[in-house]
Amino acid sequence: MKQRTHTKKRGGLLWAGLLTALLLAGCANNGPAATGSEGGGTNQPEGEGKLKVVTTYSIVYDIVKQVGGDHVEVISLAPVGSNPHEFDPRPADVTNTADADAVFYNGMNLEAGNSWFEKLLETAGKDSDDAPVYLISEGVEVKYLTEAGNEGESDPHAWLDLRNGIRYAENAQAALSELDPDNSADYAANTERYVAELQQLHDKAVETFREIPENQRFLVTSEGAFKYFSDAYGIEAGYIWEINSESQGTPSQVQRIVDQIKSREVKGLFVETSVDPRSMESVSRDSGVPIVGEVYTDSLGKPGEAGDTYVGMMRHNIETIVEGLK
Ligand SMILES: [Zn+2]
Repeated sequence: MKQRTHTKKRGGLLWAGLLTALLLAGCANNGPAATGSEGGGTNQPEGEGKLKVVTTYSIVYDIVKQVGGDHVEVISLAPVGSNPHEFDPRPADVTNTADADAVFYNGMNLEAGNSWFEKLLETAGKDSDDAPVYLISEGVEVKYLTEAGNEGESDPHAWLDLRNGIRYAENAQAALSELDPDNSADYAANTERYVAELQQLHDKAVETFREIPENQRFLVTSEGAFKYFSDAYGIEAGYIWEINSESQGTPSQVQRIVDQIKSREVKGLFVETSVDPRSMESVSRDSGVPIVGEVYTDSLGKPGEAGDTYVGMMRHNIETIVEGLK
């Protein structure tokens, strides 16, 4: 697959011209394009004067919102609770992407199912090699898939290590400040506050995981989304399948993890909010180990749930996993 990176220096003048064109187009085309976007909550007409930002899924949506604050109107393509590995863009998603001042995606093999994001950019007329399309994971140290068939492909779940979440926030800050220099002081202040919160939670997590006896530090989820988390918090991670795809929960995958569970002192198993729990229920039956909690991996929780922000989902995951394994 072609590796996309955004380069900050290229195309400045061209971009300024495009921005003007898009803003004009946006004004002439307001109504239905705004469907599904966040309402203002201000006295301004919806979206007036704000940067229109499209993100591919809800976790990046929240990070960009925290950094952008009142100056951005953010939309998530894959809705809360859905699986961003596979997504079928609707006509409104194409319009929103075409109108967007900035598009943020995770990359690293996340939005890859049926090349949905690649195709969406093409349909929306966005140049994937340059701003305003931003790879929010830029600079992250990539971990790779290891199973036959996936070998050597990037594992996308970098955000499950809070230090990478910090990098995402800083990349969002750089991109928004580039697009909207008038508000760069606000983006810097939002990022500073947010990064401090993420760093504090990270430090606490490192400490908390040390409380689990070493032979009980084995985290079992359906998808192997916890490689980065595992590395950050000193816990080994097991899974039924390595990455969400067509072949999930085959009998041989279930048998393999059941054997691993039986060879250790595993107290509990976990299901993900954005994955069908039936395979893990089979693993639980076959291994005799209960499912003790639900974690957020590829999506935030619904509004009002503990995991309805990135910080909230990470805090929930840390508490749920420590509680379930102790
Ligand atoms: Zn995933």
